[in-house]
Amino acid sequence: MKIQAAVATAPSTPLDIRELELDEPRADEVTVRLVASGVCHTDAIVRDQWYPVPLPAVLGHEGSGVVTAVGAGVTDLVVGDKVVLAPASCGVCEQCITGHPQYCVDFYALNFGGSRTDGSSSLSAGGERISSNFFGQSSFATFTNARARNAVKVADDAPLELLGPLGCGIMTGSGAVLNVLRPAPGESIAIFGTGAVGLAGMLAAVAAGATTIIMVDIVPERLEFAKELGATHVVNSREVDPVEQIREITGGRGVQFALDTTGVPQVFAQMTKSLAIRGHGALVGAAKLGTDAPFDIGTLLTSGISISMVVEGDSVPREFIPRLISLYERGLFPFDKLVKQYEFSEINTAFADSESGATIKPVLVF
Ligand code: NAD
Ligand code: ZN
Repeated sequence: MKIQAAVATAPSTPLDIRELELDEPRADEVTVRLVASGVCHTDAIVRDQWYPVPLPAVLGHEGSGVVTAVGAGVTDLVVGDKVVLAPASCGVCEQCITGHPQYCVDFYALNFGGSRTDGSSSLSAGGERISSNFFGQSSFATFTNARARNAVKVADDAPLELLGPLGCGIMTGSGAVLNVLRPAPGESIAIFGTGAVGLAGMLAAVAAGATTIIMVDIVPERLEFAKELGATHVVNSREVDPVEQIREITGGRGVQFALDTTGVPQVFAQMTKSLAIRGHGALVGAAKLGTDAPFDIGTLLTSGISISMVVEGDSVPREFIPRLISLYERGLFPFDKLVKQYEFSEINTAFADSESGATIKPVLVF
């Protein structure tokens, strides 16, 4: 079928909305009419080839929409179902069967390979191959084919135009906090970076009952906003040493939990130094392959801290996304406050506003 899609053609070059051909869904796939798609920082770094997804490609990995066709082997979705799309995973490897599909042994190939597992792409333009299946979905398009396995069914009255970012950015920050760090009521956490991922982590920390929630960034307006949404303390690390500030706020102990959403080596080092004895820190911010960060193994050995590298909040999307929706419905996870909507035709403006920080989480509406 003919679809409209935004094609990434070269690094640092605007996406180009074109008419493409989408093939038929395979036996294990569904065709989804996209209602909305979030824009994530990861789309921009892949457009810029930090991760070498073959170009030209249709990116986009926070899609939400309605199922319009199901492959012959799909038993758990029907035409008309509302779905949120999540990253692809194989479903049969050791990580998938033990509840960690974001560490699927085929994660890279399935999400960054630009094709299905059989090497085919679902997208073409006048015979030219266009990479598909970005994060199992390539959602900057009016329609896509995704494996049923990475489509999460939501309620018939769910607000689809809002829910796409639950499939990546929002799931990443909140999952790192709720699934990996797991602060208990009354505990402390510091989060570096107040973008969509960091603020989602902060909202999750509030929902979990953490009572010292320290947000660190270099943009004053973002810190102000974090305070409005539940940060108990904010630190501008351009003006003061965040490690000293966090020690002061916590009476010298350091924080029990910390999250680095920046992927900046110096910030990672600040995070490790901000932790209390036996504290637990996590990195979710993406850096170029080959990036080293300073880590003082001499001093930190005796601190007993743990550090986790976390992909997509270590979530099982069909279990975790409904939990986030339910928290949202109860008013306990107001992630809608991070979102600003754009028309699909404004996709390059949405990218620019995400880059400049003018918008925390752009969502394209089709
Ligand atoms: P964002 O650009 O909206 O937010 C990043 C924030 O970090 C900004 O507010 C920025 O001001 C702040 N920052 C930058 N440098 C800083 C510094 N030196 N000190 C303090 N703060 C600093 O991005 P986002 O959408 O929140 O995504 C955050 C990161 O997470 C990106 O790298 C993205 O690619 C990555 N990501 C990872 C996963 C995963 O599975 N691990 C999933 C989604 C996104
Ligand atoms: Zn993402």
